Amino acid sequence: MSAAFLDSAQAICQAVERGEASALEITQSALERIEALNARLRAFLHIDREQAIAQASAIDRAKKRGEALGPLCGVPIAIKDNICVRGMPTTCASRVLEGWVAPYDATAVQKLRKAGAVIVGKTNMDEFAMGSSNEYSAFGVALNPWDLSRVPGGSSGGSAAALAARMTPLALGSDTGGSVRQPAAFCGVVGLKPTYGRVSRYGLVAFASSLDQIGPMATDVDGCARLAQAIFGMDPRDATSADRPIPNLLKEKDAPLSGLRVGVLRLRAEVAPEPGVEACFAQALRILEDLGCILIEVELPSLEYALAAYYILAPAECSSNLARFDGMRYGPRVESENLFRTYCQTRALFGKEVRRRIVLGTYVLSAGYYEAYYAKAQRARTRIVHDFAKAFEKVDLIASPTAPTVAFPIGSRTEDPVAMYLSDVYTLPASLAGLPAISIPAGLSQGMPVGLELTGRPFEEGLLFRLAFAFEKARPPLSPPLVA
Ligand code: GLN
Repeated sequence: MSAAFLDSAQAICQAVERGEASALEITQSALERIEALNARLRAFLHIDREQAIAQASAIDRAKKRGEALGPLCGVPIAIKDNICVRGMPTTCASRVLEGWVAPYDATAVQKLRKAGAVIVGKTNMDEFAMGSSNEYSAFGVALNPWDLSRVPGGSSGGSAAALAARMTPLALGSDTGGSVRQPAAFCGVVGLKPTYGRVSRYGLVAFASSLDQIGPMATDVDGCARLAQAIFGMDPRDATSADRPIPNLLKEKDAPLSGLRVGVLRLRAEVAPEPGVEACFAQALRILEDLGCILIEVELPSLEYALAAYYILAPAECSSNLARFDGMRYGPRVESENLFRTYCQTRALFGKEVRRRIVLGTYVLSAGYYEAYYAKAQRARTRIVHDFAKAFEKVDLIASPTAPTVAFPIGSRTEDPVAMYLSDVYTLPASLAGLPAISIPAGLSQGMPVGLELTGRPFEEGLLFRLAFAFEKARPPLSPPLVA
């Protein structure tokens, strides 16, 4: 079976349904490709041949018995290593969780099994999803298949790299401030951050709970829509899960666009994209116009505070969420002369960036600083929510580049955390406001992919997909030279 099969979830589903290929054959070819490329790319932290083959065989047996197949039947999928898959390690790319095997499935994973997807392994990421490049993984950075000297983005960089290298056509990532969208942009694939509450967080290791969302990622818009459809929905196990009707996303494929009002963000000079990204974005806007969209310039004055607010709120929440990793309940314990020293030695397994965030978060929550930092950041967040609501009275969607640059060279930002944080300027606002946002490939600059980000009103993922489907027809996704 050719690797071209791994280009699209749709082709696989059809082939399995029609009996042209078995789930087992497809899974074998995905595993072969993953095993051949992973030593170089480090996209996966764990490859689970045994479980994958068992799942695929079960699908083939069900088909033989004439049972109805799920909507993702036989499609290999990669899961970010902060999402629990029963029987597989879940390390969050951290030494603190090294060797911990999840005893249960995340709700999203349960839904994937029901839909017939075949889980092939767990993907690399920045430790505990803190980062924008994958370089904070305790197990080595995943490489960008477009140029092996560059980062794949982060934190869901392993998932994005796996897709770009066509190791699987689908992957799950998680997005707290941009971690699905930015790596999708850097690797030339599609990634959606759903509306906060759309996808259950049960079984997603918490980083910043008021921002975290599991997000679907795929080689194309169709795959992303199918995957979103499978994982969306209310879950009683997540108190912030939203009980809202789920739109039929594939139906958006041929829906008309004419008259759709697309807001174009006026960007401040300090956060302007680099020229190559700007040129791609300008071209993307022309395509949207040709498709019948009306472009309207919008201003969101409070966006200026988004980066600062996020880097107070996310560390604050993480400092609380990560308190549970102390060697008592999960992962390794570094025994020492007394309990306190045991806690300290065990928690010294956290990497540099995670420690920086815990310290920062503890500081902004401490008595005396809470009002000055945490409470102020919360107020900024509220203003951002209001600014978006006001903008969405005039426009249906907002377009921006996904990131200000293309994927940067490995090692170029690790010494300067603020330079790293700047990578998220265009993705953080939707996260703070809980809005859905998608990144789709918009072209190349310096031979590297550029992403177009579309942000929508709460629960209007359907509209995002409508535009994404149409845009993709005008600008089909490319795959990197390594894959050819
Ligand atoms: N890069 C951002 C951060 O480091 C976002 C991470 C994420 O979305 N998980 O926090």
